[in-house]
Amino acid sequence: MNQTINIVGAGLAGCEAAYQAAKRGVKVNLYECKPTHMSPAHHLESFAELVCSNSLRADNIENASGLLKHEMRKLDSLILSAADASAVPAGGALAVDRHKFTQYVTDAIKSNPNITVINKLVDTIPDDGSIWIIATGPLTCGELPQYIKTLIGDTALYFYDAAAPIVDADSIDMSIVYCADRYGKGDGDYLNCPMDKQQYIEFRNALLEAEQVELHSFENMIHFEGCMPIEALASRGEDTMRFGPLKPVGLTNPRTGREDYACVQLRKENKAGTMYNLVGFQTNLKWPEQKRVFGMIPGLKDAAYLRYGVMHRNTFIKSPGRLDSTYRLKTKPNIYFAGQITGVEGYIESTSSGLVAGINAARAVLGQEPVEFPACTVIGALAHHASDYAGGDFQPMKANFGIVDTEKFPKVRRQSKMERYQLIAQNSLDIIQQMITE
Ligand SMILES: Cc1cc2nc3c(=O)[nH]c(=O)nc-3n(C[C@H](O)[C@H](O)[C@H](O)COP(=O)(O)OP(=O)(O)OC[C@H]3O[C@@H](n4cnc5c(N)ncnc54)[C@H](O)[C@@H]3O)c2cc1C
Repeated sequence: MNQTINIVGAGLAGCEAAYQAAKRGVKVNLYECKPTHMSPAHHLESFAELVCSNSLRADNIENASGLLKHEMRKLDSLILSAADASAVPAGGALAVDRHKFTQYVTDAIKSNPNITVINKLVDTIPDDGSIWIIATGPLTCGELPQYIKTLIGDTALYFYDAAAPIVDADSIDMSIVYCADRYGKGDGDYLNCPMDKQQYIEFRNALLEAEQVELHSFENMIHFEGCMPIEALASRGEDTMRFGPLKPVGLTNPRTGREDYACVQLRKENKAGTMYNLVGFQTNLKWPEQKRVFGMIPGLKDAAYLRYGVMHRNTFIKSPGRLDSTYRLKTKPNIYFAGQITGVEGYIESTSSGLVAGINAARAVLGQEPVEFPACTVIGALAHHASDYAGGDFQPMKANFGIVDTEKFPKVRRQSKMERYQLIAQNSLDIIQQMITE
């Protein structure tokens, strides 16, 4: 065995793929264009950068996103090890100190004797049968998108995602905000900016009138529900924000003893609590407008912005029919895709496709049969969504029980949702354990 695997992109998926291949004894060349070429959302030189929220979402097995993490821990995921080692308190979620997280991954990759890091922008890949994994993410740089189009035919789709601003904790007016977690779940990880009705209405009006960054005419504007810019939510109706990121339920203002009319939540960005992000405030507003309009939020009048919210292009391929459930390109089986570019959505989902592609690329080099994860596991469900989705418009997918094959577990009367999810989760973890043993 002397074949090397070439991976493009040292993001979440690329690093996971490299680690999984390298631990199977296969040599890996990992190409990364940072720091010479930075996408609009990447700022750090290190690998596996979290470009927006520091939350990797739920960590309990009764939640599909949590179950996915447990499945990946069983498979010795590098990204999960990094997340566990850099975790910061966030209620029931797994959130991380982003600098510690990325440093952990970078150190693990750079110190791995089977991995060679090559700082290079990759525009095309050679047509010589060598094994490649393209893991360049939603902001794929250079000419590579054009090359991918020639590879898969017609498809590169564009839409916009948005990142929330981060403010300096010292600039938050603590005489106005209060510390509380929704329904008391957590350890005081959130600060809450209470709004009365008049403040809410004025804030919404300002949001609706604020100046936005101009979009290019050739780019089609499509948002995911989970990453909707705050101004887009505001435009949907007077109360939409109060049923979304500004919902006051489960939060009692200690100064009044009552629930507020609306509430903006700020979540810790790091363990020390020196930085906070505005939860759900992904935005396309111009930066001076963000300062002006978000300054109307009680407690944020003099907020110092460590990072403003921004909007970005997201590139992903129409995977169904083109990739198999190991993320391998059917027409060129020496090429795999991994990460958000395959049509999975989210940090851990992207990592999971890197894990599957990395394992399978290594098995191909080693002359072993591919390993397909069944759709009754979350890892497998995501892979099958990408390879087999047969509905209408294919859109990237987060981990959820809706895509998991739960046929073995029909709904039973008097059984709670929680009990059913626990059975589904146990089944999935047993299967993964069995696959590892075999
Ligand atoms: C603005 C924004 C906000 C987001 N917010 C969230 C969030 O809050 N939560 C969440 O779960 N997900 C979020 N996402 C989605 C998130 O990007 C993905 O979940 C995840 O980062 C994708 O991982 P990846 O490995 O596929 O790509 P990335 O992590 O982006 O890694 C791709 C790597 O490839 C490199 N690269 C790109 N092109 C080339 C090239 N031609 N040659 C060499 N190297 C190249 C890049 O520099 C980068 O290091 C967000 C995405 C964007 C764009």
